[in-house]
Amino acid sequence: MLIPTTFASNFQCTQQKNGSRENTTAGDLICCGKQRFALEYEGEIKYNLWGTTYLLSQNGRVALTARCKECGRNILVFDNASMGYDRQSETAKPGCGNPMRCRRCGENNFFVSICLEYPDDQDLQDLDTPDTGNAFTWIRVTLKCNNCGKKHSKVLDYETG
Ligand SMILES: [Zn+2]
Ligand SMILES: [Zn+2]
Repeated sequence: MLIPTTFASNFQCTQQKNGSRENTTAGDLICCGKQRFALEYEGEIKYNLWGTTYLLSQNGRVALTARCKECGRNILVFDNASMGYDRQSETAKPGCGNPMRCRRCGENNFFVSICLEYPDDQDLQDLDTPDTGNAFTWIRVTLKCNNCGKKHSKVLDYETG
């Protein structure tokens, strides 16, 4: 399965498509058998007229981490410096100090769904990297508040290359 190493061991796959023209991996974060995470981000949060939440890059930087509510493990979900097709480095930048809050209830306790798009098989081979799981071209992250139930669709919707 194509998946970034940073959350491969905390991922419950719900859908996987492999084809000559499409490679997609989708699923939910899981840790300690639970799906309850406190999120922190780097970037800029914006809301549209309907209160939809968007995490956008700020000064070229966007990142998202998830901390398990049970054991405190920190999981790197996305970092545009070290993850994705056009990543610049192999190591994540430190940071991610801003707590994500549910726009409706203010809590930071989310169910986290991630969808990744990859280049086709030929392009992945041409890349000549052992780390194909990190060579995704698009990442979408959807959150569901574990406190009030509000779904925050595509909070992060980011094309990496
Ligand atoms: Zn845990
Ligand atoms: Zn909420």
